[in-house]
Amino acid sequence: MGEVTELRSPARSRNPRRVAVLSLHTSPLELPGVGDAGGMNVYVMQTALRLAGRGVEVEVFTRATSSDLPPVVEHAPGVLVRHVMAGPFEDLSKQELPAQLCAFAAGVLRVEAQSEPGYYDLVHSHYWLSGQVGWLAKERMGVPLVHTAHTLAKVKNAALAEGDEPEPRVRVIGEEQVVAAADRLVANTAFEFDQLVSLYGARSESVATVPPGVDLHTFAPADIGRARAELGLAADAVVLTFVGRIQPLKAPDVLVRAAARLLAEEPALRERLVVLIVGGPSGTGLEQPEALQKLSAELGIGDVVRFLPPRSGPALAAVYRASDVVAVPSHNESFGLVALEAQACGTPVVAAAVGGLPVAVADGRSGRLVYSHDPAEWARMLRSVAVDREHRAALAAGALAHARRFSWDSTTDSLMATYREAIGAFGEDGVRRLGREGRAG
Ligand code: UDP
Repeated sequence: MGEVTELRSPARSRNPRRVAVLSLHTSPLELPGVGDAGGMNVYVMQTALRLAGRGVEVEVFTRATSSDLPPVVEHAPGVLVRHVMAGPFEDLSKQELPAQLCAFAAGVLRVEAQSEPGYYDLVHSHYWLSGQVGWLAKERMGVPLVHTAHTLAKVKNAALAEGDEPEPRVRVIGEEQVVAAADRLVANTAFEFDQLVSLYGARSESVATVPPGVDLHTFAPADIGRARAELGLAADAVVLTFVGRIQPLKAPDVLVRAAARLLAEEPALRERLVVLIVGGPSGTGLEQPEALQKLSAELGIGDVVRFLPPRSGPALAAVYRASDVVAVPSHNESFGLVALEAQACGTPVVAAAVGGLPVAVADGRSGRLVYSHDPAEWARMLRSVAVDREHRAALAAGALAHARRFSWDSTTDSLMATYREAIGAFGEDGVRRLGREGRAG
């Protein structure tokens, strides 16, 4: 590959007209909260809709996981979802996806080759698997690559939950390659910025810190009584809630153990305490909901813990509103959208002080951070927020104020600025930067 012959001045920066967004392992059309669908899906869809609103056409490429899926879906004006054939539709785990990168890349490049030259101005890849494809797409299309990691293997491996498999070396190497290849990296928080620089050798000037957002229309305060009635919860219940993919990394077991501890210390709560676990199985631990059920029964609180299947939109907002506290006990969390959504509904959050959660939760103002996964410590904190009504009311007001500092509109504005920077630095004649003659039109 040739040397960079010229770096264009930022004055050449412009908004992209069309962006190829790569989301290989999970489709933004899927319901989040189960399997591999989570915050990244929400992120990709929310920002795609807003980019389209700003006049940028977005085409999201994702792996086809069912024969029923049409090759292209127009999800909204300006937002296409393209289903790429890459491996069998079903029964392909995330661990098996590295073997499908070629097929996926071929599908992406075929679409581009069938389009007029210069069809895409930029590639934005999400998660390292898409980043690998983005790396190739960038070189073949002669456009800049913006990459968002969402999670990083080195960080995840340093905070493994008991029983969790470490991320393989192939992912670590793959992430390092993508970090080196990307023109711009998007970090959720300053903490992730530092990790990209210190652990992955990213150039600090290539990393943009762009906080994720929250949909403040869907997630807004409303009548708690109504939300409780919808869920069949008593008005005087003390409701502690976990929302998310059920996997060891998210540590819903910490909430269950803490609830058992709380009841041991305050048996009078027994009639009123409800632990809600909202979400579906994820990752290799597909038995997780059953394991949690078993744990609850062993701890003698099987009657207190209720499992609800994943839900979205108003049904999810009702869960947040009905809760006294939303607990986010994760061992690692690159940001924690659930924490923000709960706060936007006026519900305080008790979260582990890991990853992006100290940004998502303002300790002492919108919720509380816990610096361990010790159930006794969690029980103490949950009790202080959920049972002490004055404390809860103060935190609820702070939660609302904190959540309002985030929005998908400002996330999208920052992404647009990052795209402009990437285009400006790359130069309009990207092929020259790559030392090639350019692709025949
Ligand atoms: N989610 C959902 N329904 C559920 C559970 C979760 O829509 O039943 C969504 C939730 O609203 C949030 C996302 O899944 O937007 C989870 O994002 P988070 O950043 O908390 O965790 P991640 O999945 O990225 O690890």
